[in-house]
Amino acid sequence: MDTRPPNAASESDDPQPVTTDAPFLSIAFSAKELCTRCGSCSGVCPTDAITLTEDFYPSLIPDRCIACGLCGAVCPGKTVSYGDLAEQVFDERFVDRGFDGWVEKTYVGFSTDERLRRGGAGGGVVTGLLAHLLQSGAVDGCLVSRMKKDRPWEGEPFIATTYEELCESQGSRYHIIPMNTLWADLRKKPGRYAAAILPCQTHGFRNLQRHDPELAAQITHVVGLFCGGSLEPCLPTEMLTMRGIQRDQITDFQFRGGDWPGQMRAILKDGQARPLHYSNYKDGAYNYFTSLYMPERCQTCLDGSNEFADLSVSDAWTRDEQGEYKFKEHSRILIRTERGAALVREAAEAGALVVKDVTEDPSYRTHKMQTRRKGSLAPLRVARWKQAGRRVPEYDRTAPDDVTLKERITERCSSMLLRAGKWKPFRMAVMGFLTSRYAIPLIKLRLYLKKRKYAKRRAR
Ligand SMILES: Cc1cc2nc3c(=O)[nH]c(=O)nc-3n(C[C@H](O)[C@H](O)[C@H](O)COP(=O)(O)OP(=O)(O)OC[C@H]3O[C@@H](n4cnc5c(N)ncnc54)[C@H](O)[C@@H]3O)c2cc1C
Ligand code: SF4
Ligand code: SF4
Ligand code: SF4
Repeated sequence: MDTRPPNAASESDDPQPVTTDAPFLSIAFSAKELCTRCGSCSGVCPTDAITLTEDFYPSLIPDRCIACGLCGAVCPGKTVSYGDLAEQVFDERFVDRGFDGWVEKTYVGFSTDERLRRGGAGGGVVTGLLAHLLQSGAVDGCLVSRMKKDRPWEGEPFIATTYEELCESQGSRYHIIPMNTLWADLRKKPGRYAAAILPCQTHGFRNLQRHDPELAAQITHVVGLFCGGSLEPCLPTEMLTMRGIQRDQITDFQFRGGDWPGQMRAILKDGQARPLHYSNYKDGAYNYFTSLYMPERCQTCLDGSNEFADLSVSDAWTRDEQGEYKFKEHSRILIRTERGAALVREAAEAGALVVKDVTEDPSYRTHKMQTRRKGSLAPLRVARWKQAGRRVPEYDRTAPDDVTLKERITERCSSMLLRAGKWKPFRMAVMGFLTSRYAIPLIKLRLYLKKRKYAKRRAR
């Protein structure tokens, strides 16, 4: 029986040099704009025929390709079937369970290791869980990311096998890092691994489970990160240019350095931490950047909560009645599978995590802004672009029926802004202003409006 993926060349085909328009290849070769840059195709290729360009798009070495079709089979760029994924992971077919997806339990929590908590994006839960797995011997290594030591403005995936290496991976890097390229290393290093990955990378991994179960079995735990949208890899260098900092002056680039919720910073060779904008990460920076630096494929991505991970971790942005954050330096944890539940339970029992069950508290069910971005704006965009003849990912999930006129206008405006953001002089000028001290009044106005909104809610 031919067990190769359905789109692979058949065994009887004469060996022909493979060209990049071969239908069995991953989507980047026929429609680059649909590529999430997850790295799955490069990671799965048994002959190392796919390398990555500087901005992480796949590139084919034709004479190495044996036309096995695996790269196309695992690729999550072109098609995501929520029904199939739900059936595969939860044994139940459904297409849409709202932004959070299938959730068994919801917790807020933090790592009890002060170093992991303070260095984490939120409460250091992701690294706390991975450290627990590593230290208990449940895994041999963890698939994580860091900024390169010799080029600290570039992110890279790597396999951490010690506590110290895991510490290098702490914190969020809000730009594309092709995590699933690491599968290629797993082929050479038998063992068990945990992966901290974004939703599209989890989709790639679930595809791998169907098409190369042996390789996939090496990844025993998927700790999913929420993803409101990644950013182009050029962001750090452009940000440094905006602030007049030479690349060779820095030893690290932090997306959320310093006190929670953090701030984009360059760490200079003399040890000085230079902030790159005036607002903190939450009250400005990330939201501004997603308006201009979000790649095309992310603009049409519908999974914000990592719906098919064993558990998903997000920031815990819930505010109290005064408009203040209820849980600083905490993360929110959505338990999805038995494996995810066991991991959090065991880590808590071992004293690695402190968690509080908030399953019954409705204020933890959604991220309002992300629900809007991924739940209505992205599906609207997909439908509109498709109608206009543009290539878009194929989904079995569609836009909700109750989309308001306001949402339609917002989608149009944000699409226009993102389109303009592709033009470097425009994005540099806008971001240069928004991250300068001249934009401080804007930040203050935004914070004032937010507080007023909460005050109004309190009064009702
Ligand atoms: C691109 C991106 C978008 C996100 N969007 C949202 C959002 O909209 N809402 C929300 O609540 N949370 C979002 N998150 C998740 C959030 O930033 C935190 O990662 C999460 O809350 C876990 O915090 P922690 O303190 O538990 O993790 P930590 O202990 O700090 O561990 C962070 C982990 O993230 C991994 N990581 C960092 N950058 C990347 C990357 N680019 N690709 C893959 N893995 C990476 C690290 O390797 C590490 O394992 C996003 C994360 C990323 C990377
Ligand atoms: S050999 Fe590599 S590039 Fe060629 S079809 Fe297989 S996975 Fe794709
Ligand atoms: S597998 Fe990932 S990196 Fe490769 S083409 Fe598909 S989406 Fe792009
Ligand atoms: S928005 Fe979607 S496609 Fe983009 S990085 Fe996040 S999960 Fe991947």
